[in-house]
Amino acid sequence: KAAIKITSITKPLNAYITVTDEIAKKHAENSDLRQKNRSLLGELDGIPIAIKDNFCIKDHRTTCASKMLSNFFPTYDATVYQRLKDAGAILLGKTNLDEFAMGSGTIDSYYGPTKNLWNSNENSWNIAGGSSGGSAVAVISGSCYAAIGSDTGGSTRNPASYCGLVGLKPTYGLVSRYGLIPLVNSMDVPGILARNVDDVVLVLNSIAGQDEFDSTCLQKEYVSIDILDTINISNFRIGIPKEYKEKNLSPEVQECWDTVSQYLCEGGASLSTVSLPHTNYSIMCYTILNRCDVASNLACYDGMQYGYRSDEWSSVYDMYKKTRSEGFGKIVKERILVGNYFLLEENYEEYYVKAMKIRRLISEDFNTVWNSNIDLLLTPTTLTEAPTYNDFISMDNQAQCSIQDYCTQPANMAGIPAVTVPIKLSKNGLPLSLQLMAPSLKEEVLLTVAK
Ligand code: GLN
Repeated sequence: KAAIKITSITKPLNAYITVTDEIAKKHAENSDLRQKNRSLLGELDGIPIAIKDNFCIKDHRTTCASKMLSNFFPTYDATVYQRLKDAGAILLGKTNLDEFAMGSGTIDSYYGPTKNLWNSNENSWNIAGGSSGGSAVAVISGSCYAAIGSDTGGSTRNPASYCGLVGLKPTYGLVSRYGLIPLVNSMDVPGILARNVDDVVLVLNSIAGQDEFDSTCLQKEYVSIDILDTINISNFRIGIPKEYKEKNLSPEVQECWDTVSQYLCEGGASLSTVSLPHTNYSIMCYTILNRCDVASNLACYDGMQYGYRSDEWSSVYDMYKKTRSEGFGKIVKERILVGNYFLLEENYEEYYVKAMKIRRLISEDFNTVWNSNIDLLLTPTTLTEAPTYNDFISMDNQAQCSIQDYCTQPANMAGIPAVTVPIKLSKNGLPLSLQLMAPSLKEEVLLTVAK
């Protein structure tokens, strides 16, 4: 009952696709037993959480916000959920996203868009960001303590930034992707959204570490992160990459960036301007790599084994065609078409292989900076505050993503950890945030400075 009541707070904002009240009920029924035997109590016992609806939960609908999976009930749990459950967390529900996590606004969902809590006025509401917008709104509205998102090009950090939350994209491979329905396999990571750094750390410590079910998960034992309350930042060297001063950067975000830089200097950190020369190519390369992975990852949705199947068809080929035409939304279909074009034999070298080479250069940019003794990079998370829905939909999906993901996407190319931190409210009363990035597996340093 509580789960339904709590999640209904977010109903007008459309944060949840499915409320998992039976899971919460079962948990409550077991709580007496756990209270009696305190050794059974986990780190997150009784803590309500939400999970983006592209993570599989056994016997619970997992839709990816697509008609294609509107009736899909997985037979297993994603590792992330399994670990949260083992730690005692209570799943309140599955949150809204852009269809198959393709987007930066949570506006392209089969279940309708998610509105930003900071301004959900009927006629001129702001987007929550995306694609994990449902997870962000679930947390900022107070329905749960933390939520899991996914991050392929910024999908955890973007909505965290627009909603005023801390949002962590961990190092690629630190957290298992088992049970996360893939977008771009070599970039996807489960992300964490919470109100403060300590809550993020608590969740990260519960979900990170080796997993025999995910061959891309790092085979290294995870050592829990511990962040002190009193932090001395005087030993940190922080880089300000000049390429992030993009022409569309709003003066308010620029001001935040300057103020926080100043603040870090006053705290004793040393700041220097650095260069990541290939930043500008990141979105272009991502676009190609994303479309190719989308074309191949979504080939399995043919109406045959699971998911939606068209009602009327005259042959197997016709069934594939109608199922895919009716089951996928416009953006998904566009991306599949473009991906198949890039993957044609005559195009493969020119697009896919070239994008992979440039991806390497983008990663090497970061290595050069780390090798010059920089510990962390400080950048904006997004170029502006959350756009209004009307402004946002006046752009096509490609334009939306190239503006939204400019600052977040390169970290996915390189696989490095990044966190967004809320700084202050804009003149319009919307959150403004900054991003910190660190070398692979330096989550402790990253989160210490973030805190
Ligand atoms: N905006 C990017 C896309 O549409 C990234 C999304 C994500 O991180 N899931 O593909």
